[in-house]
Amino acid sequence: MQPLIGVLALQGDFAAHRLAITAEGARAIEVRTAQDLASCDGLILPGGESTTMLRLLNVEGLFEALRLYGQQRPIYGTCAGAILLATQVSNPQQASLGLFDIHVERNAYGRQIDSHIATLDCAHGSLEAVFIRAPIIRSVGPGVNVVSVHRGTPVWVDDGRHMITTFHPELTRDRTAHRAFLARVRDTTGRS
Ligand code: GLN
Repeated sequence: MQPLIGVLALQGDFAAHRLAITAEGARAIEVRTAQDLASCDGLILPGGESTTMLRLLNVEGLFEALRLYGQQRPIYGTCAGAILLATQVSNPQQASLGLFDIHVERNAYGRQIDSHIATLDCAHGSLEAVFIRAPIIRSVGPGVNVVSVHRGTPVWVDDGRHMITTFHPELTRDRTAHRAFLARVRDTTGRS
């Protein structure tokens, strides 16, 4: 049976992630409650506005459920989702799940280039990446593998369980990043 991927659907760009996952042959559901989460083999935290997502996570009682989930199963955080996963957030400081050992600075590209498209090189080949008011990863912990770098800082990182991109892979036709996450989920669950 194909793995079931949850997409956190409180706010932000969740619908496009869902489409990308099903286009890759896996199953996807929108996650709004801790109960929805229970059946998922992996989870995507989409881009959007991390401050708003944090507030909604607390209203729904999902913050703690996500933290526990992430101790067991893979999570892929994109942009605002990356900010939620990080151990340290600045500009300004805010609470986070602390599941991924990186320091991220929010909205860090500055006004001139706060949204842009770039071509990245990585072990998976070259891919087109869309950055929208993206964070910059300022430092990574010892267990973190840097998959791709853009303008001198990591934009795709992996710690062996979770994956983070500071760009939006759901906004292009290039599904390299979703494919890499699905491979991770398939490896950890044995579902293919
Ligand atoms: N700027 C947003 C934040 O700080 C993230 C932007 C995005 O997810 N595209 O939460």
